[in-house]
Amino acid sequence: MSASADALDTIRAQIAFGAAQIGRFEAMLLLGHAIGRTREFLIAHDDETLDEESILRYHMLITLRSAGTPIPYITGRQEFFGRYFEVNDAVLIPRPDTEVLVEQALLVAPAKPRILDLGTGSGCIAITLALEIPGAEVTATDASAAALATAERNARALGASVRFREGFWWDAVPQKDMFEVVVSNPPYIRPDDEHLANLGNEPLGALTDGIDGLQCLRDIVAGAMAHLKKGGWLLLEHGYDQGEDVRNLLLSAGFAAVHTKKDYGGNDRVTFG
Ligand code: GLN
Repeated sequence: MSASADALDTIRAQIAFGAAQIGRFEAMLLLGHAIGRTREFLIAHDDETLDEESILRYHMLITLRSAGTPIPYITGRQEFFGRYFEVNDAVLIPRPDTEVLVEQALLVAPAKPRILDLGTGSGCIAITLALEIPGAEVTATDASAAALATAERNARALGASVRFREGFWWDAVPQKDMFEVVVSNPPYIRPDDEHLANLGNEPLGALTDGIDGLQCLRDIVAGAMAHLKKGGWLLLEHGYDQGEDVRNLLLSAGFAAVHTKKDYGGNDRVTFG
């Protein structure tokens, strides 16, 4: 056995150290982030030694993670629909379930559509649609200036052309602006939902309306008809138990062809009409 096999400053030893606290997968992610190396590099060079500063940086990240900070807020990025988006604690971390909303929007969008994304957060929906649909003209809104700044950086980094507007829901949209597709993943968690406690690092205002979970969805549906072209579509993400409520909201507002799509977990997630 060589002397370095017992050394505590090798990549291998430091992965084992982190794995005991946060699991091997996350330990490798954070070590890779701390030293600017890929997972493949860590595996191929696991007997290399790390300098003290790198180890300190890595241990700080483990402490953050152990205290509950989500990995994307530590690494500053999250994958969505095959692209990496910058995230920070001003925006919701993009969820795989939201890809169901994007997929459905891609199915219903006509050629060269005018698209509106209300409450864009990181910009993941608006930017993905702008990049996936040739000739799409995309507008995205958010009430948070910090979120909009993040979305703008993401659009620039990914080469998407999106018009950003600040304001609450329809307040941000000029009266005469009309769209073929309106999408939104608004805050829809009920304030008394026990899941909310586990999402404590993300902006509360992006998660819950503070009322009954349906208020933002109501506000969006209420204004949608006035901004949709004839034959246009409204697509809304919502909670697993809100499908019927949202279908009824759309039907009462005069929408037709109202359907709900399930997410990857088999729950109602996206209603459109
Ligand atoms: N539209 C963004 C997303 O889907 C933000 C949603 C939100 O903050 N509620 O991730």
